[in-house]
Amino acid sequence: MRTVKGGGKGSGTNLGFGTLRLPLFDKHAVASIDYDLLSRLVDLFLEAGYVRFDTAYTYHDFHAETALRRCLTSRYERSRYELSTKMPMHLFNSRDDLERIFAEQLENCGVEYFDRYLLHNINASNLKKAEEFDSFGFLKAKKDAGLTREFGFSFHDSPEVLDEILTKHPVDFVLLQINYIDWEDLGTRAKRCYETAKRHGVKILVMEPLKGGNLVRIPKEAEDLMRVYDPAASPASWGLRFAAGLEGVETVFSGMNTVGQVEENTALFADLKPLNSEELAILDKVVKIIRENTAVPCTACRYCEVGCPCNIPVADYMALYNSAKSDSPTSPSASSSQYYYYLALTRLRGKASDCTQCGRCADACPQHLPIPELMKDVTEIFEKNPTFPSKK
Ligand code: SF4
Ligand code: SF4
Repeated sequence: MRTVKGGGKGSGTNLGFGTLRLPLFDKHAVASIDYDLLSRLVDLFLEAGYVRFDTAYTYHDFHAETALRRCLTSRYERSRYELSTKMPMHLFNSRDDLERIFAEQLENCGVEYFDRYLLHNINASNLKKAEEFDSFGFLKAKKDAGLTREFGFSFHDSPEVLDEILTKHPVDFVLLQINYIDWEDLGTRAKRCYETAKRHGVKILVMEPLKGGNLVRIPKEAEDLMRVYDPAASPASWGLRFAAGLEGVETVFSGMNTVGQVEENTALFADLKPLNSEELAILDKVVKIIRENTAVPCTACRYCEVGCPCNIPVADYMALYNSAKSDSPTSPSASSSQYYYYLALTRLRGKASDCTQCGRCADACPQHLPIPELMKDVTEIFEKNPTFPSKK
């Protein structure tokens, strides 16, 4: 298996091929996968010496696994690649369902075993269900039977919940959302999740290192800072080097859907250099600029939350609102991962729709933000219009 040649603490971090955003003929039709281009990307990735692919049952409206069968597994010997996929937590309601979906996934992918198998987006609200159907025992049984080499889960919840799951259910690895803008983000708390996983000694795999492309298209002022320091380095390369340079990160999965992206990323990881102290200092400024350019300039002071009769975590909702607005400024909607974070918060605190419009928060806000009005927007985006995969 290929690992990077770069020295320092990033040495050994692998590049993986994520399949959440495959090349499409029609960007509004997620099942319109350009199979010829995907095959070309797979070829380039393998030719460059990388082997890891990650998919999920629900990606691309349930077409990503079969796309990999068509473009990867039917075209290469099993020894040429490693493949991981995920059990959709919201689509099983019995142990039989687990068995049925797993068997279907082997068929979809055209393989006899997986290298890694995950529970997809486990969190506090579905942990009870996972335990009720002994999902972790199910994963262990599949590993014992040689049907997966390793098992773990992908995660979008708090470090406290991650700690609870890892304490109760030992796994081989976790797949975490880590990137430099989420690192200190109130909603994601990526740094705390990373530290929690490290403390438990599990392998750390990274998803969304470029936050779904948001760290590729950054404000010009922020990109200028990067280009002055290193004219040849793209914003994407800074983001990937940040995630890959974290000690203990084993693999960074990046969704690649153009030849240029595969060429740039494979070249970057072939000679990976973790960010140095000067670059990390520049990244601090970049984060500040990106935050300044976000929709709601909430400073997360939480003054507004103290007197809220509905116990609404306003600062957290503002962070998620900004994230959704930055993904799509004119018609924002919650992505599935933003929605998962919102859902996790509403288990313990008030929903945006609980807001009584009393206005106490606005009186307390040093930034003079129209919080009651913003709660209506948050309700619209996260409670009425989330993007959420469902089986057709
Ligand atoms: S307006 Fe809404 S968010 Fe603000 S304090 Fe009242 S209930 Fe809480
Ligand atoms: S008081 Fe204003 S700035 Fe502070 S957390 Fe609340 S909304 Fe954000």
